Amino acid sequence: MLPHSLILTYTRCDYCDKADEKQVLIYDNFGIKTCVAHYDLGKRDCDSYLYLNNMIHLQDVKQLVDALPETFPVKRSSGEMQDGWSVDFDNPYIRKVNDEWHLSCVNKEYNLTKKPSIKNMTHLIDIDFVEGILTKAELQQRLKYSERPVLQEYKEHPCVQREMVGGVECRVFRVSHPDLA
Ligand SMILES: [Zn+2]
Repeated sequence: MLPHSLILTYTRCDYCDKADEKQVLIYDNFGIKTCVAHYDLGKRDCDSYLYLNNMIHLQDVKQLVDALPETFPVKRSSGEMQDGWSVDFDNPYIRKVNDEWHLSCVNKEYNLTKKPSIKNMTHLIDIDFVEGILTKAELQQRLKYSERPVLQEYKEHPCVQREMVGGVECRVFRVSHPDLA
């Protein structure tokens, strides 16, 4: 099962018809709903999702997080160094994009978020130390899989449709759907 938005979904386990007593979350309101029996399956599929998206949970690279100061300067797109940034624990993943690791950071004072490349954080942390931790975490994640997992897409309720709202694709509940007639 592919993790999905948990808003406007069935009140049952994503794998069977039993009650959705548990959930495995990637973010708030995004993950997989399960019964007690299918919880481990939900956990496995969320782990597979992280692996497929080159995401490592900050808990798995705790040494790296611990090595960062509570707040630190981050380079803005303008090139200016701005103080007052910290690790964004609402988005607790470090993600590899185009072969570079990016850490989610937040500036609470200005209500801004940014995902700087670790390579642009050499003023804060030793890059060899960071790459050592990340390579190890990535290897541990990969060792779990002999082949790339394939996750089945969540089957939405027929009234939930994808529509463009103000240029953004949204999931919309349409009570006029013919299936309700
Ligand atoms: Zn179930």
